[in-house]
Amino acid sequence: MRIRVQVLIESDQEATSPHVEEVACFERDQLSPETLGLRLDEAKHLLAGVQQVMTAQQIEEYVEQQRQCSHCGQPLACKGHHQIGVRTLFSKLTLSSPRLYTCACQPRKPRSWSPVAALFPERSTPELLCQEVRWASLLSYGVTVKLLSDLLPMEHQLSTSTVSRHVHQVAERLEGELGDEQSSFIEGCPDQWYKLPEPAAPLVVSLDGGYVHARSKECRKDGSFEVIVGTSTTGEGATTRFGLVPGYDTKPRRRLFEILRAQGLQMNQAITFLTDGGDTVRDLTEGHSPQASHILDWFHITMRLTVLNQMAKGVSGEHKGEQFFLELERVKWFLWHSNVYKALQLLEWLELDIDAQASPEARKLAKTLHEFEQYIRTNQSSIPNYGDRYRNEEAISSAVAESTVNQIVSKRFVKKQQMRWTRRGAHLLLQVRTGVLDDTLTATFQRWYPGMETGESPQEPALAAS
Ligand SMILES: [Zn+2]
Repeated sequence: MRIRVQVLIESDQEATSPHVEEVACFERDQLSPETLGLRLDEAKHLLAGVQQVMTAQQIEEYVEQQRQCSHCGQPLACKGHHQIGVRTLFSKLTLSSPRLYTCACQPRKPRSWSPVAALFPERSTPELLCQEVRWASLLSYGVTVKLLSDLLPMEHQLSTSTVSRHVHQVAERLEGELGDEQSSFIEGCPDQWYKLPEPAAPLVVSLDGGYVHARSKECRKDGSFEVIVGTSTTGEGATTRFGLVPGYDTKPRRRLFEILRAQGLQMNQAITFLTDGGDTVRDLTEGHSPQASHILDWFHITMRLTVLNQMAKGVSGEHKGEQFFLELERVKWFLWHSNVYKALQLLEWLELDIDAQASPEARKLAKTLHEFEQYIRTNQSSIPNYGDRYRNEEAISSAVAESTVNQIVSKRFVKKQQMRWTRRGAHLLLQVRTGVLDDTLTATFQRWYPGMETGESPQEPALAAS
């Protein structure tokens, strides 16, 4: 059999007869699994064909409406024609547009203009932009191009540089919506805070640092630079992710504050910050609320203790003290109960017991143990009674399920070792990626382009059309 697909376009003007055009024809013989319904290449051909006919009519109608001055209604003279390329999800369109002279009643405007070019300043449809950016935040630019062109009729129109340019463009638009940076966002005085309504449960903000490979020699530490990622979680469990590149980002505090505000933060509401204790992340914990407290994330303590335990397995008992493992367990117990004094004392003794000269492993263990002791000493004011908090179901760690760094950074930025980033590129991609992981990017696009919002599902075909 032969299947012919026609597009029928009915104009709103009743007098004109419908425009009918054939867009595809498929042949089918014997039914087999391979010939049931449409093949991908046929579907792509069909989509592109339908859109070709559809857009030609749309443009024709639009151009017709533009031929009169919108102010005085005088017909506009035509200066010539030209073509404009517009990228869509279903192929790149070449649209033909007249160049019209500006009406004499508008002396301040340029002498001529192209109505079609003026309608598509971005030369891409918002939906294409949204899909490009969405997939590019989850997969590499190269895989994104491949995925979209494999499934959609958009061969030869996308390149990795276009995708990365679009990601930057969208992220910069988001960045442009962020207000000015301030050293503090605390407003009002205790008297006013006292009169506020009963606050919601504390917001829990976890902040963590990670590293990504740098593209150029612009940065410190064996060709990598730091990124900060975090989550803010309400009492009801609603989580918002965020990320930034310190040093590149000029508004880190504002960025975080807008998230807290969107989650309903009021000045008498507590915020618990959980961090790894690093300077850059600690700096971000200040200036958001008079009720903020900072806690060293228990996850980071246990992680360091696990590393120490592993290392100690490579050092014989006589070189590290026979009770090493037991004593390290006691350190953990003291820290769990906020007894920092005892924990530090014990750590010092453990250090003394190690014979650092005995082997390279022993020297490494001594060094790591010393670093851990310094870490606890520096952060001692941020070590609460984790045991009490745990029993009261208060936050002690952010890394219960999966670490934020792993989720936001590792999966997209560092999995492939050859992937290298500029600070700008990483920062901008983080803005889009957190939006995609939080499932807010589509809503953002719909806010920017209200026409994107899909109302009802497409109508069933009218009987008369068959
Ligand atoms: Zn006019």
